[in-house]
Amino acid sequence: MPIVKANAYGHGLLDTARTLWQEGAGHLAVGTVAEAVQLRLGGFNGVIVALLGVVGDSEAEAVRGYQIVPVVHDWAGLTRLNEFMAGIEAATPTPVALKCDTGMARMGFGPEDIPVVADFLAATPHLQPDYLLSHLAVADNPAEDAFTREQARRFEDAVRSLRFKFPGVTASLGNSACLMAFPELAGDMARPGIALYGANPLYGTSKESLGDGLLPVMEVSAPVLEVHRLKQGESLGYGRTYIASEDRTVAVAGIGYADGYRRGPAPGAAMTLRGVRVPVIGRISMQMTCLDVTGIPGVKPGEHAHALGGPGDAVSLQDLAGWWGTIPYEVMCLLGKK
Ligand SMILES: *Cc1c(COP(=O)(O)O)cnc(C)c1O
Repeated sequence: MPIVKANAYGHGLLDTARTLWQEGAGHLAVGTVAEAVQLRLGGFNGVIVALLGVVGDSEAEAVRGYQIVPVVHDWAGLTRLNEFMAGIEAATPTPVALKCDTGMARMGFGPEDIPVVADFLAATPHLQPDYLLSHLAVADNPAEDAFTREQARRFEDAVRSLRFKFPGVTASLGNSACLMAFPELAGDMARPGIALYGANPLYGTSKESLGDGLLPVMEVSAPVLEVHRLKQGESLGYGRTYIASEDRTVAVAGIGYADGYRRGPAPGAAMTLRGVRVPVIGRISMQMTCLDVTGIPGVKPGEHAHALGGPGDAVSLQDLAGWWGTIPYEVMCLLGKK
């Protein structure tokens, strides 16, 4: 069940869904019910799980109307959805995915609640638990393997108690890191996100090599708008934060913080031009970024600078995450399609 929440991590919901669909994915998971509706209207006729659950009656209506499988993570949500489905006298039970909290402490029934939830569901004709989900907190950190195994153990208990009443339930635990590092713990159905988009969740750990061969899907480039000389001692940009220590050639690229290219200080940040790294200099503007292209002869407006990916010594998601003090997940969301 590939994860395509948040506009497929910035890659575009429908384009990504179409590709995954062609590759044989019969299930996709999004965040909101609104995203799920978009996916359904886009033509995906497989199972769509909405991970964030149902907020309000209009979403409950959409769940029924568009055959979306909502995550149900607490008693209030369970009883509300049950009453809604009872109220519209739905002819068939509405499939739901139960969320069990095994250690993330973010959303979900405790494993000890599952037997009671199972009793409740067995007694109502309106809802039917097709899936049981839980999410891992530290599958990407080999130093925390014991915690991951403990989560898997708690999940197993929950699965067992739900299957007592609903033997056909599909159990799903594994995110990308789990699928790579603990494939045996992933459950009947894994939920990979970041790895699908080519980032290695195990980067920088002892298990990093498990992600060898992953290639980033996203590439971000911007046109060079203008090229000029900057004389020794001259300053550049807002705040005059850059002062040329010798004569420089500057290219202005048409990308800025409005495009998600972060403005904050990012020591060492670079883009590539003709496959060669060129330093980012001065403050990032709303739609412009200055590059020191002194080392590349004859740069002309209309050429493209790559902020991410592209030919040659390409900037990686991990490079940007390092410069920006964040993780590849956020880099994708920042630079991705809005
Ligand atoms: C985002 C998400 C995933 C995917 O996680 P990755 O680390 O990107 O593989 C899986 N399950 C749930 C519930 C999620 O919210």
